[in-house]
Amino acid sequence: STSDLSSSSTTAFATEPTESEVPEPLITAPPTSARRIICKRCHDLVHYNRVSPHWHSEVTTDPNVLSFLQTKNPALVLHVFDLFDLPGSLLKGLANYIGKQHSVILVANKLDLLPKDVHLPRLATYVQRLMKDSGIFNIIGLHLVSARKVHGVRELCADLVRLRRTFKHRHCDIYMVGRANVGKSELVNAMLRISYGGSPHKVTAFPVPGTTSEMLKIPLERFKKVLVDPKIADAGTLFDTPGIFNNQSLVKYLTYPELKATWPPCHLKPLTYAVKPGQSICLGGMGRVDVLECPERLFFTVFSNVPVHITQITKAKAMIEAMAQGESTVLQPPVMDKSRAAIFPTMRFISSHTLSNDHSTMACTDVYFAGLGWLAIAGRFDRAVVHLFSAGGLGCGLRPP
Ligand code: GDP
Repeated sequence: STSDLSSSSTTAFATEPTESEVPEPLITAPPTSARRIICKRCHDLVHYNRVSPHWHSEVTTDPNVLSFLQTKNPALVLHVFDLFDLPGSLLKGLANYIGKQHSVILVANKLDLLPKDVHLPRLATYVQRLMKDSGIFNIIGLHLVSARKVHGVRELCADLVRLRRTFKHRHCDIYMVGRANVGKSELVNAMLRISYGGSPHKVTAFPVPGTTSEMLKIPLERFKKVLVDPKIADAGTLFDTPGIFNNQSLVKYLTYPELKATWPPCHLKPLTYAVKPGQSICLGGMGRVDVLECPERLFFTVFSNVPVHITQITKAKAMIEAMAQGESTVLQPPVMDKSRAAIFPTMRFISSHTLSNDHSTMACTDVYFAGLGWLAIAGRFDRAVVHLFSAGGLGCGLRPP
């Protein structure tokens, strides 16, 4: 993932090298027409899941790494974000980092993770409202896609081709920006898959933030008819930029196996739990909502792959205290032992909220846990009081349902 895809034959994107270019000790496999040469880091990631235990300290958290765009000619910027981690995957104030001359297309990725019955127009309206609040402007389009399932990607490409024919964007470059792990590289792969029909060319996409460690530069002609008009000479380039890790994301406390286990493998299957006053609903050992007051019960619909535990508030507190001493492994992740307990942040109180809901079936609010999912609070009630907690006091709050 660290290579310039436009150049030499020893890149992650290489086509077949000639015999004389192949360094003898490295290549032992017989020559094939579809041989793919990748760097050792990508090989270790993809084939051995070899991930640095300090992966979270190796990713950039500073959106200023995109400031090089301020001096570039007007371009199309694809702001990719993750529908599973809204609003944690938005780059607030994007124009301030990249310059105001560019046009931004929003690409809401991982649509496949949402329940099948999601109402797409309502989802699009929700995303647009969120964007207004986040101060991102110059927005000229929104696409809901699934890079993994190659859903909506053709429409996105068609839109890019159309825009690159207009006077303002004629033959301009395309930049893919976004937070780490939102699926930028997977989106490049989806475009390549459409161009080549199951192409051997691909960039490394992996569930650990920071996989793309440098900017990848891919000539648009690689995308054949999908992104460029074959009849016109077009020197445009697509740039896949390294993701900016959200320092508020709770996944930063997880080891790779834990992180992997929290990833929903396919459509989220929301489950609804009834929680009575005096009870806590815990999302593993990463987050907790205490129900202090409510008429009879509150309904929590959980959109997360993290195991849920419901118990009395006093018991939840005792469990979390034991966990902080490395003496309890009931709430997972994290898988706690004494040595990890010494460095793992304690669960902290974040905020208290008084809620009401006059609708019996619709949720009144979501409690989000950045990177891990969210809980929707529903049921008809005049007054309920909830307290929110999360590991290290990070990445948790209320958002519109
Ligand atoms: P990047 O850091 O933004 O380049 O993210 P990657 O492309 O490396 O993707 C991060 C993880 O998200 C990988 O495990 C991908 O397989 C996964 N991913 C990317 N796009 C999708 C998608 O549309 N659906 C699902 N379910 N997973 C995706």
